[in-house]
Amino acid sequence: VSPDTELATSDALQVLHRVFGYDSFRGGQQDIIEHVVSGGDALVLMPTGGGKSLCYQIPALVRSGVGVVISPLIALMQDQVDALTDLGVRAGFLNSTQDFEQKREVERAFLTGELDLLYLAPERLRVESTLSLLDKGKISLFAIDEAHCVSQWGHDFRPDYLGLSDLHERWPEVPRIALTATATKATHAEIATRLNLGEARHFVASFDRPNIQYRIVPKNSPQRQLLDLLRNEHAGDAGIVYCLSRASVEKTAEFLNQNGIKAVPYHAGLDSRVRAKNQARFLREDGLVVVATIAFGMGIDKPDVRFVAHLDLPKSVEGYYQETGRAGRDGLPSTAWLAYGLQDVVQQRKMIDTSEGDLAHRRRLSQHLDAMLALCETVTCRRVQLLNYFGQQGEPCGNCDTCLTPPESWDGTIPAQKLLSTVYRLQHERRQKFGAGQIIDILLGKQTPKVEQFKHNELTVFGIGTELRDTEWRGVVRQLLAQGLLAVEGDYGTLVLTETSGEVLGRQREVMLRREPERTAASKPAKAK
Ligand code: ADP
Ligand code: ZN
Repeated sequence: VSPDTELATSDALQVLHRVFGYDSFRGGQQDIIEHVVSGGDALVLMPTGGGKSLCYQIPALVRSGVGVVISPLIALMQDQVDALTDLGVRAGFLNSTQDFEQKREVERAFLTGELDLLYLAPERLRVESTLSLLDKGKISLFAIDEAHCVSQWGHDFRPDYLGLSDLHERWPEVPRIALTATATKATHAEIATRLNLGEARHFVASFDRPNIQYRIVPKNSPQRQLLDLLRNEHAGDAGIVYCLSRASVEKTAEFLNQNGIKAVPYHAGLDSRVRAKNQARFLREDGLVVVATIAFGMGIDKPDVRFVAHLDLPKSVEGYYQETGRAGRDGLPSTAWLAYGLQDVVQQRKMIDTSEGDLAHRRRLSQHLDAMLALCETVTCRRVQLLNYFGQQGEPCGNCDTCLTPPESWDGTIPAQKLLSTVYRLQHERRQKFGAGQIIDILLGKQTPKVEQFKHNELTVFGIGTELRDTEWRGVVRQLLAQGLLAVEGDYGTLVLTETSGEVLGRQREVMLRREPERTAASKPAKAK
């Protein structure tokens, strides 16, 4: 340990005690802080709740000059600055919400060295006046928060982040620390390249969040299932419920309120004042549930979120991990619960097919979805699967649904063959494509008007699948989709064969499926946490 490092450590510790009131550093904080205090660049991958903020706030306080923090979260800058001000830290921000006078006051404080931290939106750095302002002051470091926003591979891409690669050229002597809670190999590499962090030391924390219990259940009546979960396990708890659409956010919030659970909606279609109010209530009140689209949550620091529930399938594992990561920042037991069904797959495939962007982009979205589906259908520990996704290892955790009630797998080769050959016959003998509902009706031999209309009762496969119930067939379809043995296309979610379907039809391939749990409401694992 060099004398410099020793000095940095004791200063940093003092700031930790005196300013923030904490006893000790957590995880990798101390190493990161020492490195940045002594002028090094850093790339920090740390899960949500891991304590990233201190990694740049403390060096900014220890080093002389102003720490410039780039953050995409304009809506939260005020909160962050208020929180720091309460601790006696001199902080300010510059963004588009301020009037001329407010901006001028912050600029003055920056120039006279009366600030410890200055928060900027990334688009500010495209403005020459901001750059020349920064030139006139003394900068202690650049912190690039939510650094994954630079990644086009990721899920929060912000074009303005690409401009941040220039910081190093303009201010070569100022250390930079980039931080993110997203850590797939691809994103990691992309951040390093795009932000020009070739020389930076990489700090990768464990992505395990042991206090979060991961559970993924088949979706049958989602609102009911959610209500059971909240009543049975999370009565009076604060939590977040994610839905895909604004309409389902509204409906779900209303449903919860009607059933005696205090809930507020949050989505981008709401008036900004309503949004701000609902967010503030969530942060301040005890036991409030916020029902939201993914517009909600980035940068929200509420330690006692006891559950995060997803009523729709997230688009990627990164998204899922970030959203669920908002639970249990205080380290106490928390639940990450997701209900997912066939319709989710159909809907998301459709969204990908109709999304803007080139083929490569759609392929990427498709890979994200496949990874998410694989997590849903896994028969092994969810946590291990999650960690592997982020390039980390783990042992079966004993605290996820697949560990607590190991799913039975069963040989579904014959049902899979029956289903695929029904799709095949329709496609090749009739030149027709149908969605899961009709295919299952055919397998079950149901004489519905639609079956009669299309004379599907004359197919040789009609009624060959009575050994499974309707819901079980839906599970088969879902899992075949997840395994890539079946695909869905078009506006009506029609099922089509894939390149690998033939291996099943030709008996070269076995299909192992996960047994659908009996229809228990929230599918609480047998053993409690
Ligand atoms: P992240 O940005 O990584 O999601 P935060 O920086 O918001 O995490 O920190 C999460 C929570 O942990 C905050 O409430 C923060 O005050 C707290 N925290 C961070 N570091 C420490 C520490 N060394 N000791 C105690 N609490 C800490
Ligand atoms: Zn597990």
